Amino acid sequence: SDRLKGKRAFVTAAAVGIGRACALAFAREGATVFATDIDEDKLAQLKKDGVAEVAKLDVRDTAAVEAMAKRAGRTDILLNAAGFVHHGTALDCSDADWDFSFDLNVKSMHRTTRAFLPGMLAQGGASIVNISSAAGAVKAAPNRYVYSATKAAVAALTRSVAADFITKGIRCNCICPGTIETPSMLERAAAAGPQGREMFIARQPMGRLGTADEIAALAVYLASDESAFTTGVAHVIDGGWTL
Ligand code: NAD
Repeated sequence: SDRLKGKRAFVTAAAVGIGRACALAFAREGATVFATDIDEDKLAQLKKDGVAEVAKLDVRDTAAVEAMAKRAGRTDILLNAAGFVHHGTALDCSDADWDFSFDLNVKSMHRTTRAFLPGMLAQGGASIVNISSAAGAVKAAPNRYVYSATKAAVAALTRSVAADFITKGIRCNCICPGTIETPSMLERAAAAGPQGREMFIARQPMGRLGTADEIAALAVYLASDESAFTTGVAHVIDGGWTL
């Protein structure tokens, strides 16, 4: 259908998982989608699936993000999906681990927000959707020490952007997924041992993992004008994990 018809969307970390599902769902709803990631091989597939443009972008590189925003031009939807799950407690988290997680999970969103906002303000509006997590933004989870800190920061950054630009047509929401079946989630389950997948499933009272398409459905809503009255909110979608 055409819920995003006439809109231009920019997506980070779009090669796999949630970012990919969002880029494809935006395209299916009629948006002109610019999908980026550091994994160029997997990105190439997206062009065959309706995404208008793909390009390599490392969201840890400020100059590259700024150049890419110029290249993208008018952008009505910015979806920030890049993020890394560090496994461990405070005792396992070196300064380097801390800095890497905050750089990739939080400062990346600061970079894209700063790069795209001037154009969004000049055109009179846009919707920014950040991928946070139920872990950190809502609840604690074991061995998610710095990850949770970064995702709480994403929720706070989201509220700040929403508050600062609420009268300028900019909306900024974040999505807090629970346990979603993606390549990195499956790696984490495998690393947890033979019962890993069952352990991850057992976290949800619904008794299953979420799908990236279920996250993308919420992203389409938040990106579209249907959600015009919501901003600054951390939207949970977690199969009852935080219930
Ligand atoms: P994933 O972790 O399987 O893949 C991540 C993607 O990010 C890859 O395509 C990778 O190439 C890309 N990437 C890594 N470093 C990058 C960089 N510097 N610049 C640009 N791209 C980079 O994907 P996922 O599991 O769907 O996670 C996406 C987001 O969703 C993350 O922010 C994650 O924290 C969040 N999230 C995931 C889950 C889950 O259960 N999968 C739950 C809550 C939140």
